[in-house]
Amino acid sequence: MGTTPYDWLDNSLVALHRAHRYREVQAIDGMAGAIVQRQGKTLVNFASNDYLGLASDPRLAEAAIAAIRTYGTGSTGSRLLSGHRELHRQLERAIAALKGTDDAIVFSSGYLANLGAIAALVGTPDLVLGDEYNHSSLRAGGNVSGATTLDYRHGDVAHLKEMLEVHRDRHRRCLIATDSVFSMDGDLCPLPEILNLADTYDAMVLVDEAHGTGVFGTKGSGAVEHLGCAGRPLITVGTLSKALGSLGGYVASSKSLIDFLRNRAPGWIYTTGLSPADTAAALAAVQIVQCEPQRRAALWSHVKQVMAQLDLISTQAEAPHAGQRLPSESPIICLEVPSAAAVVAASEQLQQMGLWVAAVRPPTVPTSRLRITLMATHQQTHLDQLLTGLQKVV
Ligand SMILES: *Cc1c(COP(=O)(O)O)cnc(C)c1O
Repeated sequence: MGTTPYDWLDNSLVALHRAHRYREVQAIDGMAGAIVQRQGKTLVNFASNDYLGLASDPRLAEAAIAAIRTYGTGSTGSRLLSGHRELHRQLERAIAALKGTDDAIVFSSGYLANLGAIAALVGTPDLVLGDEYNHSSLRAGGNVSGATTLDYRHGDVAHLKEMLEVHRDRHRRCLIATDSVFSMDGDLCPLPEILNLADTYDAMVLVDEAHGTGVFGTKGSGAVEHLGCAGRPLITVGTLSKALGSLGGYVASSKSLIDFLRNRAPGWIYTTGLSPADTAAALAAVQIVQCEPQRRAALWSHVKQVMAQLDLISTQAEAPHAGQRLPSESPIICLEVPSAAAVVAASEQLQQMGLWVAAVRPPTVPTSRLRITLMATHQQTHLDQLLTGLQKVV
């Protein structure tokens, strides 16, 4: 048999299996929520980004169905051609109001919002400085833009300052990009210090609020508000697909920045407008996020309780570093596990106990960990079950 230009694929897949890095999809049957059915098994869900439980809220479903009845299923074209509906503007105004910015622009996903915004705002003569733990979409935006892109050490403002000192003058524009809540660790970026450096070195700042929106702030505005930076000049990016329970992404910022993106972001211009159903569901969610602070209160009470109990477990553990909790200030809570093989085994054991906890491993993160995400709609019995399971496994 001859060889083909595609033979390398099978070799690569074998290598992935060997390194315990092979991944595959697993279908959820039925409704999203704190309890899900997967392959005939009932699992308590500690693996979703649906922090407030809105993905299964009947009000979002009703809004989506009404929008389909009114506008149809597809938006049929780019927003600049046949794809624009008044519903899109309503959502953009609602997001701007939630964020306290002049305006906002809605993209088809959070990934595309980062890619589109960064590639529009900087180019070859420019510099992008990003936290080394930034989300893949921020990294991709820097690469697509053609700008010089460099990483600073995670959360390390002294290192960021050093890099600005050395590199800033050699470039036209500079953009500092960071997650507000780091998606695989759950800690927060040092935003006030980053903004101070940006003032000193004439840099723009883009902050990704994918895991902050709906979760932080008195009205769910996000971690920017929580960190005391609301009202400072900033480019906020986020997703409609996590706490907002829908699909899509957005950029919220000054009037001129949003106006510029509408004219110059290829990831917005050359793609179909968000579907009416997704738009309407997100709009309903933005309203609920602001009117129902009790959801956030429940979520944060779960976070405090689980963190305290996990710390108690780890002080009682025999091996010094087994199951150490990574520093987190959010509903994303991670426990360190020594190897990729061990984290997969732990996650499978938990699944046997009816608990769905994600195993996250390299190359997604530098060290293997169990990643637990909490929801406002978890019940006390779910949390008790989680802690019992984790105690057995780690
Ligand atoms: C999930 C996520 C995104 C991407 O958002 P999608 O709407 O799912 O494409 C971007 N940034 C961060 C930090 C995320 O966690």
